[in-house]
Amino acid sequence: MGTAYLAAAHAHAAAVTELLRDLIHTPSLSAGEQAVVTRLAAQMEGLGYDEVVLDPFGSVIGRIGSGPRVIVMDSHVDTVGVGSRDEWARDPFEPVVDDGIVFGRGACDDKGGIAAMVYGAALAREMGLPGDVSLYVVGSVQEEDCDGLALEHVLTKVLPHPEVVVLGESTNGQVNRGRIEVLVRTRGSSCHASAPERGHNPVYDLGPVIAEVEALNGRLGYDEFLGAGTIALTKIECETPSVNAVPATATLYLDRRLTAGEDPEAALKEIARLPAVQRVGGTVELVTYERTSFTGTTLGQDKSFHTWATPITDRAVRAGLATVKAGLGRVQEQTGHWVFSTNGVASMGKLGIPTIGFGPGDERYAHTVAEQCPISDLVEAMAWYAAFPATFIGTTP
Ligand SMILES: [Zn+2]
Repeated sequence: MGTAYLAAAHAHAAAVTELLRDLIHTPSLSAGEQAVVTRLAAQMEGLGYDEVVLDPFGSVIGRIGSGPRVIVMDSHVDTVGVGSRDEWARDPFEPVVDDGIVFGRGACDDKGGIAAMVYGAALAREMGLPGDVSLYVVGSVQEEDCDGLALEHVLTKVLPHPEVVVLGESTNGQVNRGRIEVLVRTRGSSCHASAPERGHNPVYDLGPVIAEVEALNGRLGYDEFLGAGTIALTKIECETPSVNAVPATATLYLDRRLTAGEDPEAALKEIARLPAVQRVGGTVELVTYERTSFTGTTLGQDKSFHTWATPITDRAVRAGLATVKAGLGRVQEQTGHWVFSTNGVASMGKLGIPTIGFGPGDERYAHTVAEQCPISDLVEAMAWYAAFPATFIGTTP
């Protein structure tokens, strides 16, 4: 059964597809989003948004309506790189539409999301946005490099305390795993490689630490819904004056994914308490992130991200499911979860703002050379975004 929202969204299918093609054609690696943000701001203005601004970190924010009840829809506008160009069957930045599917870097992660949100919010007004709502569409920067950083800035400095956040990452979901990035550093004493006994090699100290990290991966917490916590060694480096010298320091990088019931502080302590780390006197700390935006503003944080889940009983989730009915004419009872990390680590994980997701495309294609998004998904997402504000306001707390 078609709904009025779907019919209205269908009328904009060609326009939203054109916007997505333009966005794909405008490369936007993390911290290089200026051109894509400018394009989105112009689109929002063209669609008659009430206000369009860039925040100091460079995220674009468009508003429709001016009521006291604030709803935020966010999709990130940066993408990962293309890797080896030879692996791509098509040019990643020359979008093609083949059999109703748009191909190109960012098609589903997350330019399809922002394109559908920009049009979906305009459609929400066309279909009758409740007068007490301010609907904001945020195109956030630097998500691929440090999830949550830019959205946290928006939600603390520009739009504090919205009632709900909707993320446009592919596939509906409302649960995310947290994670931390940790480094373990050992210190030795450098000397000429021809007489290693005069120094102390800190890389050798990492040997037993690595063995214990590998063993730790097998005994981490388990959760029915989210699966097991994991730890993986992702990088080793050492500081050495030359390849003919014993290094001075050695560093191990660890990616620790948290499951339900695990928190970042405890996970960090667990690594610091490993017997081998203690024995060699290794220091354990969180990796820090700091990057200057195209605006010149620098933000940073520890790479520590809380696990989060919005309960199925939460008003945001109930409204999300009701919007599937109101907007798309379907019944959905179950929710899923993203296997990857999203800006939800800030909105729900850190700030506790109920966060849900609904986005076009299949997450399996994110970060791949076959990245794609069906136009039918863009249309459904537009209809869903258009229907959400009225449904959310009408859902009992
Ligand atoms: Zn993404």
